[in-house]
Amino acid sequence: MIFINLNMVRNRYSAYYRRNRKFNIFDRSNRIPLTAENILLIVLPLILMLVLIPPKKEDKPAVLEKEASAGKASVSIVVYNHADAVIDEVPLEDYLIGVVAAEMPHTFNFEALKAQAVAARTFVLSRMQGLYGSKEKHYGADVCTDPGHCQSWISRERFLESYGNEDDWQKICRAVSETGNIVITYEGVLINPLYHSNSGGVTEDIEDVWTNVDEVPYLKSVYSPYEEDYSQYEKTTVFSWDEIKSKVGKRYPEAKLGNEAVQDFEILSWSSSGRVDKARLGSAIITGTELRELLGLRSTNLEINFLADNSIEIISRGYGHGVGMSQCGADALASHGYDFEEILKFYYTGVTVEEIRY
Ligand SMILES: [Zn+2]
Repeated sequence: MIFINLNMVRNRYSAYYRRNRKFNIFDRSNRIPLTAENILLIVLPLILMLVLIPPKKEDKPAVLEKEASAGKASVSIVVYNHADAVIDEVPLEDYLIGVVAAEMPHTFNFEALKAQAVAARTFVLSRMQGLYGSKEKHYGADVCTDPGHCQSWISRERFLESYGNEDDWQKICRAVSETGNIVITYEGVLINPLYHSNSGGVTEDIEDVWTNVDEVPYLKSVYSPYEEDYSQYEKTTVFSWDEIKSKVGKRYPEAKLGNEAVQDFEILSWSSSGRVDKARLGSAIITGTELRELLGLRSTNLEINFLADNSIEIISRGYGHGVGMSQCGADALASHGYDFEEILKFYYTGVTVEEIRY
């Protein structure tokens, strides 16, 4: 801390003033002539100072500023854009518009878009607080734009090029602004608001999807109606046995698959929601999530049929991990009169939807 003796400063200034009194600029006779050269000499250092001195940077990634006019806090977040490999500090609400635009079709009902906005806001704020996920993958940024790790995001330009028009963009902006500062909490703590595209009719307990993850009271399996009307609901894929043998051989060389699909491909157990829990491929035992990744399936909600030509037909229901809010389900519920708060409480068991105070 620096203390300044104001009396000393005043005395010094008085001495300086007395010494230099004859050059007082207020004395008309001593004024500097206003030639172009003199003006340049005065203005040039000021311009150089503005250009060369960098603006003061905040140490903290989160910047809270009170907006006096709106009475709402504006929050900046640090985002690692994984596509461009750059880190940006952006206003939270602007970032959320890009997330909703990327994560949910703009054609969905307005209340579903609002539910998505609240989930996305809760997602990023919970990560800023360090409650879930890890920042290691994004060099210390709060979130990244990799949908496999955090949340997808697109710019307004990209949206207008590929997804919708200005009215569609404005619809998303309204969904974010009309839910400004609203988040989801459980017992006073921001939740981990996981979501996915389509549940296939029933969502999943979190501990049945990822190993070494404890039960979470608000991420429990719920029946999700009306999802069969969406294109994401069901997909049928036929794999030749040779194709499966090749994929398995690369990832699980110990499996040692024989020539008969029906002998060496078996579902061993199912989760409580009916998804694949464990599967056997030859002598390798893998989880449903590993099977999904191996074969590039949309979900682990699978129906498996052995065909006469030794190939396997796999019908996958739903799209995504199945935990938390189903986006198609949210849209379906909105069509049936649910508002965004009711949608969120439908998928996140026992939560509170409330306004956050910064
Ligand atoms: Zn991330």
